[in-house]
Amino acid sequence: MLLLEHTPRFETKAAALLAKKLYGIRGKATPLPSERDQNFLLETESGEKFVLKIANALEDRALLDAQHAALNHIAQQISLCPRVVPGLSGETIATVESPTGLQNFVRMLTYLPGVPVAEVHPHSPELLCDLGRKIGQLDRALATFDHAAVHRNFHWDLVSGQNVIHEYGALIAEAGLRDLIYKFASDFEHNLAPSLSKLGTSVIHNDANDYNILVGGSDGHQRVTGLIDFGDMVYSFTVGDLAVAIAYAMLEKPDPLAAAAQIVEGYHAEYPITEAEIDALFGLVCLRLCMSVCLAAQQQPQRPDDDYLSISQRSIRNTLPKLMALDPRFAAEAFRDVCGLSSSYGTASGSERVVSKSFLQRATTTRSLPLAVPVDVTRTRTETLAERRRWIGKNVSLAYKVPVKIERGSMQYLYDEEGRQYLDAYNNVPHVGHCHPRVVKAGQDQMALLNTNTRYLHDLINRYAEKLCATLPNPLSVCFFVNSGSEANELALRLARAHTGKRDMIVLEHAYHGNTTTMIDISPYKHDGPGGAGAPSWVHTAPIPDLYRGLYRQDDAKAAERYSQHVVEIIGALRESGISLAGFIAESFPSVAGQIVFPEGYLAEVYAAVRAAGGVCIADEVQTGYGRIGTRFWAFETYGVVPDIVVLGKPIGNGHPIGAVIATHEIAASFDNGMEFFSTFGGNTVSCAIGLAVLDVVLEEDLQSHALQVGNHLLEGLRKLMDRYSIIGDVRGSGLFLGVELVRDRETLEPATEEADFIVNRMRELGILLGTDGSFHNVIKIRPPMPFSLNDADLLLRTMQRILEENFAHVP
Ligand code: PMP
Repeated sequence: MLLLEHTPRFETKAAALLAKKLYGIRGKATPLPSERDQNFLLETESGEKFVLKIANALEDRALLDAQHAALNHIAQQISLCPRVVPGLSGETIATVESPTGLQNFVRMLTYLPGVPVAEVHPHSPELLCDLGRKIGQLDRALATFDHAAVHRNFHWDLVSGQNVIHEYGALIAEAGLRDLIYKFASDFEHNLAPSLSKLGTSVIHNDANDYNILVGGSDGHQRVTGLIDFGDMVYSFTVGDLAVAIAYAMLEKPDPLAAAAQIVEGYHAEYPITEAEIDALFGLVCLRLCMSVCLAAQQQPQRPDDDYLSISQRSIRNTLPKLMALDPRFAAEAFRDVCGLSSSYGTASGSERVVSKSFLQRATTTRSLPLAVPVDVTRTRTETLAERRRWIGKNVSLAYKVPVKIERGSMQYLYDEEGRQYLDAYNNVPHVGHCHPRVVKAGQDQMALLNTNTRYLHDLINRYAEKLCATLPNPLSVCFFVNSGSEANELALRLARAHTGKRDMIVLEHAYHGNTTTMIDISPYKHDGPGGAGAPSWVHTAPIPDLYRGLYRQDDAKAAERYSQHVVEIIGALRESGISLAGFIAESFPSVAGQIVFPEGYLAEVYAAVRAAGGVCIADEVQTGYGRIGTRFWAFETYGVVPDIVVLGKPIGNGHPIGAVIATHEIAASFDNGMEFFSTFGGNTVSCAIGLAVLDVVLEEDLQSHALQVGNHLLEGLRKLMDRYSIIGDVRGSGLFLGVELVRDRETLEPATEEADFIVNRMRELGILLGTDGSFHNVIKIRPPMPFSLNDADLLLRTMQRILEENFAHVP
């Protein structure tokens, strides 16, 4: 390491004399900042500007030769970097004795106009993209350059990153930061280090920090005009230049990943990035910042008053934890996206530089940044909340005491406006994972090709319906597509009424089937809840067969029969009043009612009674279908029953609004009574492409078995927690559809509503998203996107245990 006491100390006058004597340049000298050398700006009378550089006495001559050779090489291709000015003697480098008696190498470069990017605020997307472009141009120019001196062991080389952390990490004073960096180093070693050999190598600049990048141009049209300081040049990973530029550009950005993506986009447009480089890039960015913290910890004692060191370290300390909370795979997907490269799912990563077709197309069209939120991203969470209060209905509720502002999603993770990652253990709509690349692509491709309605022939709707019916028992074979679960239940009700010619329905207590007027009518959870007007006369409510707190409980061997008897009694009472039934509707595992599992035999008895009374049986599988419960693809299958109508929604579009109704031939035929059924958007081409992709992913990735494995693991862990903490009264469910019911007293079952709310909010603070439900809102619902892994399950269990241990009593 170059010691600071060897920094040359020439007077400004002496520098001006050297410039005249060695280079024949007569001008006014002004000192420029430099960490270890001495630099002077020289301005001639004619206005020409140069930089006289007096190197640190410990500087290696061969490295200065390498720098000059590189600058000459670059100058032949691009005009981004300073040019080397020859001396009067013909040599470019001279040796002079400094006032301290040491030998120093002196050289002269042309001066580049512009201000350091560190002094430009904010960094517009165009500027960041241009930065990427310029780094790409530089790397392309350097690809044909080499010099023996830059094949060196150098502490700023990313290749040495892990060693630097191991050597100096212990000097980091703050324990939290040190642990974070050690954790990163260990993850890096396991996940990234083995594939670094796939990265291309070449000579790189290796120090595109924001004081070495110069910017010019007017407001709003700023461009990178120069890149200086080749003192850290090294033969290393080619993508290292990009990683370093990104590392510093991300600092203190409200949306660091968007900034990084803008740079990547520009770079890739100039010098296409390989798949392997994309996969490694984010890790290398973090590695560079970790190295900076470690090397600063090592240098700080020698430079206690160095403002630059402390400013940049403060920024790194502010930003690094946010970056490390990001999933590197998510970052890679983001980079892949702006490069127009296909997602990593199902693609092998190559090691050659590739230019994708879509990149070539994009290069000629307007640049877009899909990563950026398509609204003003500068809003803080508080501003967004205030605006929402102004513009959105008050009873459109928000989750959590401190609402989360979510800007991106990837599989089972969500990311807020600061890039903080949340483990999503609650949302069942993104069934195959938030923004699953295959689903996104299916939608994008179809949207670019055709989106029209069911009035025209198209094969997608037929294939989708056929594939959907193949998952259902035989009599369920006619499909109707709509846009939501509510609409699907509405249609199911119309089908039941058309088939039976009757109006009355039996529903379960606490049930929820949708938000439309008629769905509120058949949803006791709504019409019996706050603001509700009770059930209309044609709706008859049977008790919820809840074995934990319902009328008949676990200890009652006849619970199923007793519960189904209530339905039989309702039917009998109706008959006595001369009323026949249109049907019965229930979720196969009631969710809003608190993740209830029916007692064995209950649904079969109810279905038999309803059919005997001429009614049809509707299974609302909006929440429970598509393999979620693990043991079966559809939840009704666990009870050995076959409904007459099945209603689908939420997960089947993975977030795209699709609802579906599948009925028997007979029921569909009754519905075909002369009145056309048309839903403008239901079954549109894009929805069908998306729906089909979701179903393909569920089946091909065998998410049902995965849900069973992870669900069983969760159930086991939750039951252990129940053994330990008395507040957990019941743990129930199947697969990735679980409920944890909290009670203040295991005898009285007094609901622990506030406690459930506290736990869910505390889990959110600790980065895990959950929700509550049940008639007392005391049931914690675990219903994650299906890719939720065993590791995620362990994290959830550990976090929940921590909260329980800190706040609640053990079982006596
Ligand atoms: N049925 C059930 C069981 C539901 O949970 C929901 C939504 N929570 C619906 C129907 C209504 O679906 P949507 O909100 O898509 O209209």
